[in-house]
Amino acid sequence: MRKKQLEIFLSNLKEMEDPDMFEEQYTTPGDIAAEIVLFAYHRGDLEGKTIIDLGAGTGRLGIASLLLGAKKVYFVEKDKRAIEILSDNLKTLTLKSNQILGEYEIRDGDVLNVLLRGDTIIQNPPFGTKKRNMDTKFLKKAFEIGDVVYSLHKKGNYDFIRNVALENSFELVEKESFKFPIKAMFEVHKKRKVMIEVELYRFMRCYDGSEWRD
Ligand code: SAH
Repeated sequence: MRKKQLEIFLSNLKEMEDPDMFEEQYTTPGDIAAEIVLFAYHRGDLEGKTIIDLGAGTGRLGIASLLLGAKKVYFVEKDKRAIEILSDNLKTLTLKSNQILGEYEIRDGDVLNVLLRGDTIIQNPPFGTKKRNMDTKFLKKAFEIGDVVYSLHKKGNYDFIRNVALENSFELVEKESFKFPIKAMFEVHKKRKVMIEVELYRFMRCYDGSEWRD
């Protein structure tokens, strides 16, 4: 699937009408979601792999992964309203995409308690501005359950996040910057949007070397 097609498909999916600002429910825009997932695809982290979309919301990242050939996608989300929209979006995916898709499963529950194992974790976690350290908690869970992790963060915490990774035997190997539109914090009722700078990080599990010896 070409990038433009993917962007259009994702942009036409349903979004949360009334996102919960306390849960930092920011839907990833279609063009950024397409870019994130293509970035992972070109590094061999998607096709034929088991993907876990943590804090899946309405599902754009996981749906894009299915469109690019993921073997299976787990969508983990705790908000019932988001899950309803996600289910509708998955129906649209099945109806509208004219390709053979991998399997998918929705896990209704808290990311921090999930017991799963995947190859690649993709997440746009709460940035931790409303609930402190939520981004770090998501990251630690991702490091527990995957071997490669893609995670979106507010710009400015690169060194801190690299250290969190190292403490959990992961290395921050690449980054990509984006401008991300969110509703202004004190302007919720006016629906004003502001652009914030975010960074996508790619992490890989570090091995101690013994695994590589014959
Ligand atoms: N991945 C989606 C949504 C990102 S917003 C996208 O890119 O469009 C973050 C999502 O994480 C929200 O839907 C919110 O409800 C969910 N979330 C926040 N804390 C959570 C938790 N502890 N367990 C499960 N989901 C959580």
